[in-house]
Amino acid sequence: MIITLKSSIPDELALSYARDINAFLVHDGTQKVLVTSSSVKELPASVVEYTDTHCVLPSDMQLSSKAYRSKTRKVSIGNIEIGGDTKNTIVIGGPCSVESEEQIRAASSVLSELGLKTLRGGCYKPRTSPYSFQGLGLEGLKLLRKMKEEYGHTIITEARDASHINEIIEHTDVVQVGAKAMYDQGILRACAKSTKVILIKRGFGTTLQEFVQAAEFVMSGGNLNVVLCERGIRTFETGTRFTLDLCGVAWLKEYCNLPVILDPSHAIGYAYGVPSLAKACVAMGVDGLLIETHPHPKNALSDASQQLNFEEFKTLMNEIKPLASCVGYSIV
Ligand code: PEP
Ligand code: MN
Repeated sequence: MIITLKSSIPDELALSYARDINAFLVHDGTQKVLVTSSSVKELPASVVEYTDTHCVLPSDMQLSSKAYRSKTRKVSIGNIEIGGDTKNTIVIGGPCSVESEEQIRAASSVLSELGLKTLRGGCYKPRTSPYSFQGLGLEGLKLLRKMKEEYGHTIITEARDASHINEIIEHTDVVQVGAKAMYDQGILRACAKSTKVILIKRGFGTTLQEFVQAAEFVMSGGNLNVVLCERGIRTFETGTRFTLDLCGVAWLKEYCNLPVILDPSHAIGYAYGVPSLAKACVAMGVDGLLIETHPHPKNALSDASQQLNFEEFKTLMNEIKPLASCVGYSIV
């Protein structure tokens, strides 16, 4: 249940109510709300006096639910707003991993050339093998910071585990919680205390309900700047790396109030399919796209098979602009 309190309630009283009924006190815009488990169906008598409205929800998709807030939340990624009434499709570009200053500068410069402002590169890579490149760590974060200073880009990087989450929160504008990390409560709880935008990727074996509940960990802790990212789920098919769940995206658009970004690169896992998949995503009218691009994809230290080279990336950007405008969106 979400209980919206009367605006006249003093903060300390709101907090003591929250403790009394075992709820989270969250400042949602100008409102103070108490969020209990969705199993609570009757308004607790002790809070009636200060209750403005209350909303009974069928599941623990609560703060992120359209049943509670019917409009998609607006989130600012640097100077770019997505969600709300914006109809912006943000393009988040860059290599899978930050590998060197030369490489990340080349990617930053291509984004600038295309008028794009959002640079992503991994520094702590969640690899499937311990023998693969694990990322440059803090050195990589510093290179991203340098690109932010030189190009004015908004920076996104991923947290692999909770041991370096505070370092990531300090250095980046948007924290990416990866597909394997989205169950990590240490990461989610640290993100909840931050005011940074948190981009949560869907685990490849994660139901939509589990996905939105990961977002609820961040939101119930006080950070409502959450964006979801569909990046492909595991199916019986082995010809492609994963299967991009566009049905899931339609479900999220219907029932969830968080902006949704799509990642065709990790979904298919092969560069040949990224452009057509990206176009399908744009045609759905989505809040963003995450596309991996690298100066020399074949030599990339991670995700070599799926990264677009710069020519392919530029062509794709030119092709999606008219598609986005057909569905009333702008590529930003
Ligand atoms: C990535 O974004 O480079 C990545 C590792 O993605 P995912 O967490 O979706 O596998
Ligand atoms: Mn990658």
